[in-house]
Amino acid sequence: MDGENLRRELADITKSLRRTLERELHAGGGDLIATAAKQKRKMAAKSGAGTAPAPAAAAEEIDLFGEPAPTKPAKVTPVTAFEAPAPLPALDPGARAAIARAAEPVLAKIAEEVRACRSCALWETRGQAVPGVGSALAGIVFVGEAPGAEEDRLGEPFVGRGGQLLDRIIKAMDDARLIPGLRLDRSTVFIGNVLHCRPPENRVPLAFEVEQSSPHLRRQLEALQPRIICCLGKTAAEHLLGSKASLASMRGRVYRVYGAKLIVTYHPAAVLRNPELKRPVWEDMQLLAREYQTE
Ligand code: SF4
Repeated sequence: MDGENLRRELADITKSLRRTLERELHAGGGDLIATAAKQKRKMAAKSGAGTAPAPAAAAEEIDLFGEPAPTKPAKVTPVTAFEAPAPLPALDPGARAAIARAAEPVLAKIAEEVRACRSCALWETRGQAVPGVGSALAGIVFVGEAPGAEEDRLGEPFVGRGGQLLDRIIKAMDDARLIPGLRLDRSTVFIGNVLHCRPPENRVPLAFEVEQSSPHLRRQLEALQPRIICCLGKTAAEHLLGSKASLASMRGRVYRVYGAKLIVTYHPAAVLRNPELKRPVWEDMQLLAREYQTE
């Protein structure tokens, strides 16, 4: 075959291959291709080929949430299109310690008020009010929806199965040194909820209940001066962002509220129901760590 014919044949093969790939992608074949690639990676991992060993300290927990995958660069959404976001609260450990000291009595006062609060009907059915736990030391706040049965019994947020998973996620972040030099556990981050009393049968909070309870959360955030807030699930994201968008569309973006950055991830209870969500949650924690460390 002469050079001209060879070039023509190669061009035809390329065109035909492109058409086939386009048809596959249009018909959802992209998922199939991705799945096949994933399976290939899994098989390679099983045979030990082409994988780097995970750091020993973090291996067990990282394994829990799947192999960390690269995340697309986050899109920052300023408060308004015309207003540059204000500088984030302090990152320096000394300055954070000072914020934590100043926040402590304010948080204690808010907790006292929450325990005495009767602003909505949930006070009648609650076992205990659940004000929140942790400190301003790290400058990271996790916000969930409302207390469940265990939280209602013990007066502390995220202590049921979902809470134990959240603890493991925080420990995995610490083990993996996602934020070098920063110790992460329940005492250095703050964990709270939009509602501070358990709705009967864990039903979705009513708008009036959120309206009445949200001033407690707002004052907590003002005292905590977080660098980043992580919404756990749709209720927290809807409330703090004032958006009815789907959780999937809010994930992977960085917002600015209360002077802090804000990201959205799945609620640990959703991860317990669907372990496939461990991987996206781990990606979100990597995003959190990156955004925490940048202005
Ligand atoms: S849910 Fe909030 S507003 Fe309602 S009684 Fe409890 S603390 Fe008060």
